[in-house]
Amino acid sequence: MNSSVRRNQSPLYETAWREFDLSAIASNYRTIRAAITPGTKIFACLKQDAYGCGAGTVAALLSDEGVDAFGVVSIADAVAVRKAAPRKPILMYPGIGPGAVDLVRDLDLTISISGEEDLRSWLATGASLKIFVKVDLGFWRAGIPPASLPRLMDLCASENNVTVEGLYAHLNEFADAGSSASAQVARLMPLLEEMKARGRLPETVMVSSSESLLHHPEFDMDAVDPGALLFGLTRSRAAHRPFPTRPALSAIKARIVALKACDDSVGAPPDLPGYRRAMRLAVLGIGWGHGVPRHIDSSASVLVRGRRAPIIPPIHLEHLRIDVTDIPEAALGDEVVLLGSSGADRITLPELAKAWNTDETGVGCGLRESLRRIDVASLSKPNQEEGE
Ligand SMILES: *Cc1c(COP(=O)(O)O)cnc(C)c1O
Repeated sequence: MNSSVRRNQSPLYETAWREFDLSAIASNYRTIRAAITPGTKIFACLKQDAYGCGAGTVAALLSDEGVDAFGVVSIADAVAVRKAAPRKPILMYPGIGPGAVDLVRDLDLTISISGEEDLRSWLATGASLKIFVKVDLGFWRAGIPPASLPRLMDLCASENNVTVEGLYAHLNEFADAGSSASAQVARLMPLLEEMKARGRLPETVMVSSSESLLHHPEFDMDAVDPGALLFGLTRSRAAHRPFPTRPALSAIKARIVALKACDDSVGAPPDLPGYRRAMRLAVLGIGWGHGVPRHIDSSASVLVRGRRAPIIPPIHLEHLRIDVTDIPEAALGDEVVLLGSSGADRITLPELAKAWNTDETGVGCGLRESLRRIDVASLSKPNQEEGE
């Protein structure tokens, strides 16, 4: 078993940790697979350490599920995915440059090309290249402008060292402020026709990731590359094709590492919101060093023994204060819930995202490596051997 999610490891000695329900990822994958056009491939986007879930762990799991390929940005993620999935294609989204050519060869990576200059810099290495050409249909980000695509395809065709395996785009996330998804894909269609007519159409054309999978089934094409949707980080309300996905990140927890009734001998309470004389204060062993934002909504709370306790600012590198005056049963060492269930109450991912002034993906990708990952399946099977 890959170690990026620890199995059979009790969080007993941790002050804070995050829990993952990896079965959610397998289930989300199957839901997507069952819903998309038959024959459409799935490139699982595992960038940012698989949206915080652990790229190696997720790659092994999805490889077993039969995923067709992976997409990543960083070499670190590519290394983790290649180790877990020795034979699956790995598409590098724009990012790495020709300095990484040895790794590209050794790890058998497919690179993205976003323009002529980009291609020429790779050609200068003399290496054989497997490429996906990336086109910018209205995201104003990486990718070649559609008008320059035919010339780039001609250049690729004239180079013996280059195999164009695919052509792809990532549609914009500007909502009403940018071109609509349909307007963007419409920019691609005549180019595909032209390439087809000239025998230059690559095997894989791909434009759809989480948002358009939900709203535009007609964009499935040869392949799709969802990220957030696989990890249950997308809201599918009002979707044309609602995917009932579950979040893989199931809980964020921290222990009470200090607890006291603050009497007058510690001085007057700080003149800050939430502090008061004679309050009972608990300190949690989690802080912005673990990825909790430094500024969170003033109404934010945690669950202590099933009851809400307000968070008191400021948030420190390793510590977070809560007010447990009204929760006399709170005890030193208690597990406190920032995300997840406690007793009959529950803090959901959308609720936490709102309190943290971000969205679900922002929560998942914002947590830091120092916040240990725990596979919940290992917690319910305490006698499971490592590697089972
Ligand atoms: C991030 C990204 C994806 C996945 O996007 P989601 O919205 O998370 O599904 C797909 N393709 C590219 C090029 C990306 O950068």
